[in-house]
Amino acid sequence: MQNPFQNGMSQLDKVAKIKDFGNEFIMRLREPDRDIKVSIPVKMDDGSIKIFEGYRVEYNNALGPYKGGIRYHKDTEINEVKALAFWMTLKCAVAGIPMGGGKGGIAVDPKELSKGELERLSRGWVRRFADILGPKKDVPAPDVNTTPEIMAWMADEYAKITGDETGATFTGKPLDKGGSAGRGPATGLGGFYVFNSLRAQLGLPEKCSVVVQGFGNVGLNAAQIFIENGHKIIAISDSKGGTYNENGLDIEKLIEHKKKTGSLADFENGKNLTNKELLETLCDVLVPAAFENQITEANAGKVSAKVILELANGPITPEADEILFKKGIPVIPDILANSGGVTVSYFEWDQNLKDEHWSEKEVFDKLLPMMNDAAQKTFKKAKEYSTDLRRGAFIVALERIQEKIK
Ligand code: NAD
Repeated sequence: MQNPFQNGMSQLDKVAKIKDFGNEFIMRLREPDRDIKVSIPVKMDDGSIKIFEGYRVEYNNALGPYKGGIRYHKDTEINEVKALAFWMTLKCAVAGIPMGGGKGGIAVDPKELSKGELERLSRGWVRRFADILGPKKDVPAPDVNTTPEIMAWMADEYAKITGDETGATFTGKPLDKGGSAGRGPATGLGGFYVFNSLRAQLGLPEKCSVVVQGFGNVGLNAAQIFIENGHKIIAISDSKGGTYNENGLDIEKLIEHKKKTGSLADFENGKNLTNKELLETLCDVLVPAAFENQITEANAGKVSAKVILELANGPITPEADEILFKKGIPVIPDILANSGGVTVSYFEWDQNLKDEHWSEKEVFDKLLPMMNDAAQKTFKKAKEYSTDLRRGAFIVALERIQEKIK
């Protein structure tokens, strides 16, 4: 698999070619402030001790405390966490929130652990990193395979160790444990707001056919929100494959189908398709919402979407970006498209520190203008430099960070 950190650096180099930020600034952004790997011993249910590898990367805090999720995945390794922390730095800057960039992870397949083992592992991660975390220092959140329940265990462990009463060190907590209303759908909704803001400028019709890769928090919420707003989801997939119906899928029925059968295959109103076929499906909007490196040199030429909305982090490699650019397929980049999640995480942190509770409506009312603003600033910057939206978003972000450092 391509090294995602190298992909991030290659994106940075391309931007440095079209706007001169000065060598010192770019060099500074080529390395995180620190990256830490720890070992976490966990007592397993059978009484044995197993050692897991955990990570935290604090990339840059020019704009505010390090902010970024914790990923649980068997393939998680330091280069992935560094890449995600780099993108978080830029994402917070594009969204205009006073947060820096960080990311964490554990190399584990959570499906192989019992609930008790998962809790002990999550609390173990916090014990290893408690010294560097804190509401004004480093604020983790959920990512792939980390749930509100896991965030609640982590916040509880942190409070036990440090006596912190604000709860603001971890975001993505359940509502009754200091979480924010609206955090669940925030990434999908923010992505939809960004899409909606740019739809006409990108030449898309009022009602679009949409293909989604990923059936998790982000993909599923996005699919539901697109449908609520009159668009149709013609294909969607999870890790095992997907289903297609050119007239639009009934997502609520599909959720029931997956609950019953464990997969999206053989859905009564859909035709089975592989993830490879899904990415090449003819549609208005393709939404990668699963993992990195899904659209590469090998398949970019076959993408038949009019626009790509990157809700996953890093789903398109730099080589694929060039191919799509030449084909005239605009990519709404991850650091803009999925920034709704971290923006509502920031709202949660803010509410915890002020001891306030905002309604879901208040949260969404605050999110909408921020996403519109980020989308339009990116579009304008891309126009100004005659470049693509990814480079436009990078320039918006880098200008903000550089200004703050100055
Ligand atoms: P999740 O664990 O809830 O869902 C991931 C989904 O991807 C699952 O449905 C899984 O079956 C599917 N999947 C895995 N491999 C696949 C493959 N090869 N093809 C198709 N589907 C596959 O994770 P999530 O929170 O929805 O995160 C998805 C992406 O969005 C990640 O890149 C994550 O970093 C990014 N993201 C998440 C948030 C958030 O708030 N959760 C915020 C910003 C960005």
